[in-house]
Amino acid sequence: MKPVYPLRRTCKEVSALLIAREDRALPLVERMALRLHMAVCEACPKFERQLLTMRQAMGRWRHYSED
Ligand SMILES: [Zn+2]
Repeated sequence: MKPVYPLRRTCKEVSALLIAREDRALPLVERMALRLHMAVCEACPKFERQLLTMRQAMGRWRHYSED
């Protein structure tokens, strides 16, 4: 358990969340944790951009709305 920072995620957890987000909506708490991590991390936003680029390139992803 992580009692002090319930929204803290490691880069490994965040990349797993980013990938999971492609298939299913994340719970609000995970979306908040994601946003929080993105604000302080350099690597994960780059990874997210790669995922977005991949998704656009593949063109087979169904439409989904963020927020
Ligand atoms: Zn990170």
